[in-house]
Amino acid sequence: MPEIQLHNTLSGTIEPFTPLHAGEVRMYTCGPTVYDYAHIGNFRTFVFQDVLRRFLELRGYRMNQVMNLTDVDDRIIANAAAAGKSIREYTEKYAQAFFEDCRALSIEPPEHYVRATDHIEDMVALIERLQANTYTYNSEGSIYFRIAKFPAYGRLSKIDVSGMQAGARVDVDRYEKESARDFALWKAPKPGEHFWETRIGPGRPGWHIECSAMAMKYLGETLDIHTGGIDLAFPHHENEIAQSEAATRKPFVRYWLHAEHLLVEGEKMSKSLGNFFTLRDIFGKGYKPSTVRFLLASVPYRKQFNFTFDGLQQAASSADRLRNLSARLTEGKFPAGGTGAFALRVRSADEEFEAGLADDVNTARALAAVFDLVRETNIAMDKGEFRHEDTAPVQEFLAKFDKVFAVLRDDDEEKLRSLGYGGGQGLSDAEIEAMIARRNDARKRRDFAAADRIRKELAERGIILEDTKEGGVRWKRK
Ligand SMILES: [Zn+2]
Repeated sequence: MPEIQLHNTLSGTIEPFTPLHAGEVRMYTCGPTVYDYAHIGNFRTFVFQDVLRRFLELRGYRMNQVMNLTDVDDRIIANAAAAGKSIREYTEKYAQAFFEDCRALSIEPPEHYVRATDHIEDMVALIERLQANTYTYNSEGSIYFRIAKFPAYGRLSKIDVSGMQAGARVDVDRYEKESARDFALWKAPKPGEHFWETRIGPGRPGWHIECSAMAMKYLGETLDIHTGGIDLAFPHHENEIAQSEAATRKPFVRYWLHAEHLLVEGEKMSKSLGNFFTLRDIFGKGYKPSTVRFLLASVPYRKQFNFTFDGLQQAASSADRLRNLSARLTEGKFPAGGTGAFALRVRSADEEFEAGLADDVNTARALAAVFDLVRETNIAMDKGEFRHEDTAPVQEFLAKFDKVFAVLRDDDEEKLRSLGYGGGQGLSDAEIEAMIARRNDARKRRDFAAADRIRKELAERGIILEDTKEGGVRWKRK
């Protein structure tokens, strides 16, 4: 099997992957900040890390993965205070929503889901180590990391801090590269906001120290892989490296993997542009969880992702092709015997599938191998050349494919219903007829906008309308 190669942001190159501890991969994934529903850009990264995780498992590695829930940061502290709620009360709804969303997208739970609020003591202990190593200073009740003392600062995000003014500080959790400064490890309490009484004084942790403390607690001082969206490389991951390595004097992470940005219809997603979608917004439009997962997994993680509704339609039909072939293999009656030629064909598809994933998780390459085989299998079946003994190798290959991509199981209806979406695309005949009747009424009223809206809604739910010559309407499921 081809050796796994991964792109390491730290070195800027593709490197062969070997874990530090034989047979085990220790991986940390920056999870969501639980102050709102996660959006499809977030899920691009989470689906990527799931594909990577599943591929490593397929290769026989035992996973030890941590994903944090950021439940302490500037926005949460401010929002919880404004709502007059405790942090737990404020974030719990979004934490549960995140777990449900992950289940819908068949994202395997990591070995440890951890919350910042449960690890304040670990953060305090890490800050004490940094104090002992003289990397910190206090100012107005807050504790800052002195980046001038850490010469490797900027190596991950490739920023130049040589001209930086000594002692310049930044208090907010999120800031731009241009504002690289000494950052807050521990923030002094502000009136009306939640804080903890600790050995290092009253206050709350900065966002960055949370991930360092929780990663090292569960995974040891040197991790194999750290994943996240590219927007986290600076300042978050840069600061994680500085804090961790200044405390332990050991390399913090061996492979840094970053997923690129997601655009929507070619534009940056933003609430003001009206192209901002949570995962639930997409389900609400009638798309299946498996479709969204397939689409998000189909573009290699280091490529910018252009999320489009056309792309969703295509992903839906690709997933259907796979399910249809899977059903055909189970239900079909094929002539007895086999030539062995098909088993060879499957083996070469399998090799290419493996090679694609080993090639820095190149999912597009792996999927091309799968769909070539799907096409050839369907053609062979149509021509009557597919034999009974050919079924097992193709089925085994599809099962292997699905261990990584996880789209074959037809459980979308169930998942959507559990999230409160009434059956998604599964409209009953009566519901479809009722919608068509409403559309006919709208047309009689000459309300063509309403008629078009209904046609579009049906189309999004996989129902195609055909106006007949006689003035009626025929419909079919896609
Ligand atoms: Zn993080």
